[in-house]
Amino acid sequence: MSDIIQLLPDHVANQIAAGEVVQRPASVVKELLENAIDAGATNIKLLLKNAGKTLIQIIDDGKGMSATDARMCFERHATSKIEKAEDLFNLSTKGFRGEALASIAAIAHVELKTKPANDELGTSIKIEGSKLISQDFISTSKGTSISVKNLFYNIPARRNFLKSDTVETRHIIDEFQRVALAHPMVSFLMHHNNNEVYNLKSSNLRKRIVSIFGTKMNEKLVPINEQTDIVAIEGFVAKPEFSKRKRGEQFFFVNDRFIKSAYLNHAVVNAFDGLLEHGAHPSYFLYLKVPANTIDINIHPTKTEIKFDNEKALYAMLRATVKHSLGQYNVAPLLDFNRDANLDTPYHLNTNSGSAKIPKISVDPDFNPFKEVEKQEIHFPNKREKQTESWESLYTSVAITDEEKQSELFENQQEIKTQKTFQIQRKYILSSIKSGVVLINQSLAHQRVLYEDFLESITVKEANSQQLLFPVKIALTSLEIGMMHTIKIELENAGFSFDEFTKESVTIKGIPVSVTESKIAIILEELLSDISLEVPDASFSHFDIMAKSFAKTLSIKTGSQLSEREQEGLVNDLFSCKEPAISPFGKPIFKTLTLSEIDHLFNS
Ligand code: ADP
Ligand code: MG
Repeated sequence: MSDIIQLLPDHVANQIAAGEVVQRPASVVKELLENAIDAGATNIKLLLKNAGKTLIQIIDDGKGMSATDARMCFERHATSKIEKAEDLFNLSTKGFRGEALASIAAIAHVELKTKPANDELGTSIKIEGSKLISQDFISTSKGTSISVKNLFYNIPARRNFLKSDTVETRHIIDEFQRVALAHPMVSFLMHHNNNEVYNLKSSNLRKRIVSIFGTKMNEKLVPINEQTDIVAIEGFVAKPEFSKRKRGEQFFFVNDRFIKSAYLNHAVVNAFDGLLEHGAHPSYFLYLKVPANTIDINIHPTKTEIKFDNEKALYAMLRATVKHSLGQYNVAPLLDFNRDANLDTPYHLNTNSGSAKIPKISVDPDFNPFKEVEKQEIHFPNKREKQTESWESLYTSVAITDEEKQSELFENQQEIKTQKTFQIQRKYILSSIKSGVVLINQSLAHQRVLYEDFLESITVKEANSQQLLFPVKIALTSLEIGMMHTIKIELENAGFSFDEFTKESVTIKGIPVSVTESKIAIILEELLSDISLEVPDASFSHFDIMAKSFAKTLSIKTGSQLSEREQEGLVNDLFSCKEPAISPFGKPIFKTLTLSEIDHLFNS
């Protein structure tokens, strides 16, 4: 048989390698921002068109490249950052693999302009699909500008796989925030379709966090500071009452590199033990500095996961330090007796760190972490006029007559007529129906009821609004304010009314009747997060997302005890919905078991 194995040409190899490094526009943004940082830039601009699908340009004032380097940098495994294998274990730069530019140039139209400080002329290079198109001397300012156009132009499958602009922009913003948070001293500017998204001045860590996440963040931050021989920990955690329902603001940086670590996250969550509501995630910005030779960064192509030599000791120290800081700021009750004692004696794990101090723990005897936590409120829509009576009566303790109770219930669903209901494991409601029994998921049922109600009020535009005695001001980031403007009308339809929009806050003077004042911030926060993450494309109506988001946030949850009246009311309302069988998110809400099915269970 003849030989069949051959070496792939470079441009094919580069395209394959690109698959690892470049998943989406955000990956390009990350690599280019990191190159600018490695080049010592103090000012970095990121310009985007169409979520980076059309253009990603990064301009820095770093050290630039010579004409030869400008050509070389697009070769695979071409790097100025390491020379020998040992260097891999003593890295001080973000990059070291020498593959980012080669990969990017394989799958896009790239234009590089660069000049070192002391050179008279700079270099301009154009490359498309790994092919050099042109190289010229140009006059340009010190530093480097790289434009990446038409990403994945030669891999249609990849291009088609990209998500909506909203989603891709969200990914870019995530990468941008990570680099900007890791380097507060560097100024960053981000423009998208000629609109300024961020303009971050050189500052300190706290100010950088606040300038990204909005002024409301300032009061939430508890500083963290601890130095030992194996690690220095700095940064902030957010007070527990500001924890999030979604994992949003969780940042670990190790030697100025953003990393993901479920293990270290666990340590922080553990330090919040007992302070977080069920399902809530703490926000944190934690900066670890460790000796470069105690970590391995080369275990993942995108360099966001790293391996630590002293993982256990780090865990213990991080946990103790965060706990200590929460205690110092009197936000934590500090004596928990059922913890794993091993986790609290970190400093003995490392033999050469015997001198490290053990955090002191202060106790606030009056602290009650749950005093702010209200009992879950159950809200019911008010718009279904036909059923107003049953709504009201079923959810307040007002007595009602049987006649009223029967009136017009189940007009759509004659078959289902509730008798006695039982709540099972605070999760399901069991009820007997004509044909057998029905088992209803309480949370999904309530979602459906709220969803239809909101949808109706938003689209029919006659939502009932309640005026607030004292308008509520909610601080938002500039991004969120932008989003609020685009959904203002829908929100007004839903029953909100606004007093004032500034650059960093909105003042709300009226809310839908089914929302309580204490929930305003949370439902808006969830809504903005849902919109930024889930809108399939820009032309999609916000109505549906809004109704879904409100329904999800306000619905009763698994674990809520429901009185008999509440159970019954919920069942009634579910079955007067247009689509009682599936939740707004497509899950089945109830299952029925007919008598013959039940019989069958016993006869088989
Ligand atoms: P790596 O960053 O892993 O070295 P890259 O492909 O990202 O690999 O970059 C290759 C080389 O090009 C870098 O090592 C660096 O010398 C040079 N380079 C890339 N971007 C810049 C920049 N913005 N300014 C100066 N030099 C750069
Ligand atoms: Mg690089």
